[in-house]
Amino acid sequence: MLFYLLSIPNLLIQQLMSSRRKFLNDSIAGTLSLGLLGVNATVVASSETCATQRPTTKGMDKALVISTWNHGLVANDAAWQVIGKGGRAIDAVEQGVKLVEADPKVTSVGYGGLPDRDGKVTLDACIMDEKGNGGAVCFLQHIKHPISVARKVMDETPHVILAGAGALRFALDHGFEKENLLTPGAKAAWEKWKKEAAYKPIINVENHDTIGLLAMDQHGDIAGACTTSGLAYKMHGRVGDSPILGAGLFVDNEVGGATATGMGEAVLKTLGSFLVVELMRQGRTPAEACKEAVMRIIKKQKYKDIQVGYIAINKEGAYGSYCIHPGFNYALLQNGKQGVMVDADYYKG
Ligand code: ASP
Repeated sequence: MLFYLLSIPNLLIQQLMSSRRKFLNDSIAGTLSLGLLGVNATVVASSETCATQRPTTKGMDKALVISTWNHGLVANDAAWQVIGKGGRAIDAVEQGVKLVEADPKVTSVGYGGLPDRDGKVTLDACIMDEKGNGGAVCFLQHIKHPISVARKVMDETPHVILAGAGALRFALDHGFEKENLLTPGAKAAWEKWKKEAAYKPIINVENHDTIGLLAMDQHGDIAGACTTSGLAYKMHGRVGDSPILGAGLFVDNEVGGATATGMGEAVLKTLGSFLVVELMRQGRTPAEACKEAVMRIIKKQKYKDIQVGYIAINKEGAYGSYCIHPGFNYALLQNGKQGVMVDADYYKG
């Protein structure tokens, strides 16, 4: 559950996290040794080195999919449908997150997402491929699959980001259907929230879980996708980190990829995903790089009542994560094996 937690005691953070941890306890026994913290792969130190070390199509043993939160399990499975058949990482990441966008039970992504303070569901998404191309949409309404619109922005325009009405017009021009994304459940939650929360530009306790998904295909190519309805009950017009290349997601196929979840403002101010990838370029493991990016937030921002989590993969097929508070987890699928949930390591003060 999200993680824009302002002005609430740590105890409440712990409570919000407990259901997630329960799920984990049931599902990941024995999986932590997979290497969450012990990622010991050698990270390529420069693009020159990288070019000589590119994994080949034997790369099934390195191919992997990793994504944020419990909804990542099904997303990873969908992504693997593409990768397992020798498909491209970019197609895999799009297919993976689309499943979550379409699920009305996921109240933080796409259809069924909790609305902003005005009762509008506004969506942010971005995607990056192995060639360094990127596309994004932000403040997009009425379209169930913002990730596919972002992909079209990447593939079919000279631009990177389309916003609001322009993004909607572009989507409609490209055959996307205009839909009501506010489900009865999300509307009821918003109406309840309105009774309890004053309409002020201070966000109280919201629930949110962006899906960020990174994949490396059998050719060793890396792509990523990130999609969200943003913070619940945010101010109308607010755009978070998720559609911003370098903040919510960054991929450099020479090095690796990273994606973020949690309080977007903190991620934006540190350009967290770009930072993680650059740290990996300098030789940090994915876990070390994620930790350093979280530490930047901890050192420079008020971090006690917010959550931010990063996941990352490198060119060697190593992965890692780190977050501020306990409770963030991610889904991992490697070599076509059964997917598992892994608890992220966190700051212990
Ligand atoms: N990062 C998202 C945002 O700020 C929310 C989340 O992942 O919880 O919009």
